[in-house]
Amino acid sequence: MSSTIELKNRLHSGIFHPVLREWQSTGLEITPSNLMYPIFILDEPNSQDEIKSMPGICRYGVNKLHGMLKPLVAKGLKSILLFGIISNKLKDSIGKHADSELNPVIQALPLLRKWFPDVVIACDVCLCPYTLHGHCGIVHDDGVINNEPSIKRIAEISVSYARAGAHIIAPSDMMDGRIGAIKKSLINAGFENRVAVLSYSVKFASGFYGPFRDAANSTPQFGDRKCYQLPPGSVGLATRAATRDVDEGADILMVKPGLPYIDILRNIKQIFPQYPMFVYQVSGEYAMLYHGAKNGAVDLDVVLKEILLSMRRAGADCIITYFTPKILDMLQPKNKET
Ligand SMILES: [Zn+2]
Repeated sequence: MSSTIELKNRLHSGIFHPVLREWQSTGLEITPSNLMYPIFILDEPNSQDEIKSMPGICRYGVNKLHGMLKPLVAKGLKSILLFGIISNKLKDSIGKHADSELNPVIQALPLLRKWFPDVVIACDVCLCPYTLHGHCGIVHDDGVINNEPSIKRIAEISVSYARAGAHIIAPSDMMDGRIGAIKKSLINAGFENRVAVLSYSVKFASGFYGPFRDAANSTPQFGDRKCYQLPPGSVGLATRAATRDVDEGADILMVKPGLPYIDILRNIKQIFPQYPMFVYQVSGEYAMLYHGAKNGAVDLDVVLKEILLSMRRAGADCIITYFTPKILDMLQPKNKET
């Protein structure tokens, strides 16, 4: 008996071979250019310690960076995102050591530029790792964010990072007006066409940040960040936040976290297709996948590839991920999927 399936509805003939399958997702390739690797830098130059809540991920002292990065650069690593971590005794109310000579990012930048001249270096800019209160801006006596001095300080830090060698300034603080303040300060300091601004435009108040706060020692000491990060259901506010940053001169946009906000990523890319779109697969997403795979629930290589594809499909041009070393391994020719 002959099949009743219409000729145009026979899909299997288009996917029976690996090359045919690749053609079904043209434009969604994962290459090293689509990855940015976040790195935590300690203020103890010779230290290296694993982050308990993010197994396999370490914090590195400045002297450990070359050895860690060299093999990754050899495998094609193109860009990194730096986070500084300082001891509590150096913290204060305004984040003085966010850009002092004691700051590990300030120390690392010229070295990284010299060691890896082809790697693009982005620097996270925020006050929470450097303030005693652990909030992302300067606060009033009652604990509420004081926006104006916050963005002034964040713009100052941005210029310091630019002077030390950053290619990209990536403010994660979510203060109002910080992109404009940073852009103006960078231009005034002569970095108009030397430094890009990657805005954490659409950053949600998320439960998926827990392991990061452990890693960066940046947990708020009172209250939470719900008054400046976006409520998880706020689709309209997400669009307004991205629009605000575009209007203030952001070069690149970001949605954070990744997988729980994949619809937002698609929305923002559709509204601003002219802008490179980044997505941050955050610490909680990393930990979930790590533990899921370790306990046998999922095959990490398979689901990781699937998630990366979902992000590319939704519109991500670059994925910031702690799995970057693993993905670079997966991309090496010998390991290519067949
Ligand atoms: Zn922060």
